[in-house]
Parts: sequence; C-alpha cells; structure tokens
Amino acid sequence: MSLLIVGSVAFDAIETPFGKTDKIIGGAATYISLSANYFTKKSNLVAVVGGDFPKEYIELLRNHGVNTDGLQIKETEKTFFWSGKYHNDLNTRDTLVTELNVLGTFDPIVPSQYQSCDYLMLGNLAPKVQSTLINRLTKRPKLIVMDTMNFWMDIAMDDLKETIGMVDVLSINDEEARQLSGDYSLLKAAKKIMAMGPKTLIIKKGEHGALLFQGDQVFFSPALPLEEVFDPTGAGDTFAGGFIGYLASTDDISFENMKRAIVYGSALASCCVEKFGTENLLNLSETDIKDRVNEFVKLATFKL
Ligand code: AMP
Repeated sequence: MSLLIVGSVAFDAIETPFGKTDKIIGGAATYISLSANYFTKKSNLVAVVGGDFPKEYIELLRNHGVNTDGLQIKETEKTFFWSGKYHNDLNTRDTLVTELNVLGTFDPIVPSQYQSCDYLMLGNLAPKVQSTLINRLTKRPKLIVMDTMNFWMDIAMDDLKETIGMVDVLSINDEEARQLSGDYSLLKAAKKIMAMGPKTLIIKKGEHGALLFQGDQVFFSPALPLEEVFDPTGAGDTFAGGFIGYLASTDDISFENMKRAIVYGSALASCCVEKFGTENLLNLSETDIKDRVNEFVKLATFKL
C-alpha cells in the first residue's frame, strides 16, 4: 500500500560524547522515509528545502526508493537547520539551534499522483502545516499517524491540539506525553491524550522501550540493550518510519499487527543509533532486520 510522508528535511549538526558532526542530512521526514523504505517501496515525500541543499542528498533519497516529486526547492532560501547536544547518558539532549528558514513559510502542496495514498505519516513539523496537508487530501487515508515534539507544545499548543484531534495514532515521548496531558502517570496521560482524538497512542521511552495504548489495551516493547550507542538523533523518526512502513506493507491496522509494527520500528531505531546521523540506515539488509527483530522476540518472550 502506498505511503505519504510529510515532515522536515534538514541540515543537522550533532554533538554526542563520542564526536561531533558538521551540517549533515537530517530531518524527521528523512529518517522516516529511509526507515519505511525497508518495508514499502511506495513512499511519497512532501517537504521543502532551500537552494543550499545538496543535490546528492536528494539523489540519496531517490536511490532509497523515495518519490521526491513533492519535495519543493526554494532556490533563494535556506534549508531548515537543527543542532543538538547530547548529555553523557545519551538519554537527554539540549537543542542548541532551531532555524526554521524554509519551514517558516512551508505550504505543503500535494502532487495529484499522491492523492490516493492509503497511509499518511505526519512527521515532526508545525501542526498547522500537518493539518493543512490532511485537509488537502481528497480522500482520507486508511490510517493517519502523527509525530510531534515539545518545541510545538511550547509555541503552538492550540494548533497542536486541533491537529491531534484529526489523527488515528499519535507518537510522542514520555516527557511530551506528560507536558501535553499535565499528568505524571503515563497511564493517566494516555487516557487524557486519547480523549483528545487519537484512538491509538504510542509513548516512546528512549532506551526503556515504547508503550502502545488503544482503548483499555496496553502493549510494551523493550528497546534492545546495545553495547554501542553513538547518536540517538532520529531514533524516534526511524521508529515511526518502521512502524508505519510495516503497517502499510502488511495493510493490517489491527492492534495485534500494531504490536508487531512497534517491534519492527524499535528494531530499525536500534540500528539507527549505532552510527552518526542516517549512516546506518542506508545499507541494512533484510537479514540484519530479521536478526534484530528475533533479538527482540528472545528478549521479551517467556513461558509461565
Ligand atoms: P528525533 O531525534 O527523533 O527527535 O528527531 C531528530 C530530527 O528532528 C532531526 O533530524 C531534526 O532535523 C528534526 N527536528 C528537530 N526539531 C524540529 C522541529 N522543530 N520541526 C521539525 N523537525 C525537527
């Protein structure tokens, strides 16, 4: 089934205890697209970059099966830039710079050939842009998954709540769930957030795994304990790409299949964090992914 992805395509500068990068390719939609591509070959991107964005990066996305017809290039403007620095535990980071640049005036135009998409992934972006994109689709997709972050909670809470009310699945981290709901207990927070609209909620807990809520049902997937974590940037987006890519490829949105999708998303995220930026997402094999998923099964299965 076809997948439509909207989100940031960016320059990122990252600093972790293990090293530093200058401006490299990043952005929520970049990680989502590269990750989803391991499951569905029919992904379509809507995003915007400036004239400073290297053509090789666009080629890289195309070579990984992403349709870039919906990628706007604003020749006289600059690409969105984000910079972050991780603390020693790698679980927390400080955002050093967020320069919206082209994202500040982004008008998400949906090419007509994308209109029949079955699955929609709203990657991290201004919530108003996310809702505009939904409103521009002539047919509602079978499933709309949304990711967001505290940045938008701080500056656009009303827009954010309106967009959350339009989606089927919301994916956020534990800190964001607490900020959005005002509740410390994640169970209470989940109830409040699902009452805002999404029937399904994913709460990501970094190296402590992810929770999936739907009505009264809850599922938990651990994260894989790794010897080497190099750079957690994009882990959440990679997770989301694996989640929706798996659902789109199996075309099954039952809770049981979402449990599998959570594990596939977690497996891809565990690969992403082992190298800087998108590097490790570029050349995974089917066997690499199968082996990772089997490690999750071994880690989490037990008999009574
Ligand atoms: P994650 O580590 O999953 O939170 O995602 C990091 C990615 O999100 C980076 O590649 C950034 O370019 C992108 N990003 C950071 N802040 C924003 C923002 N305010 N809007 C859109 N994308 C963002």
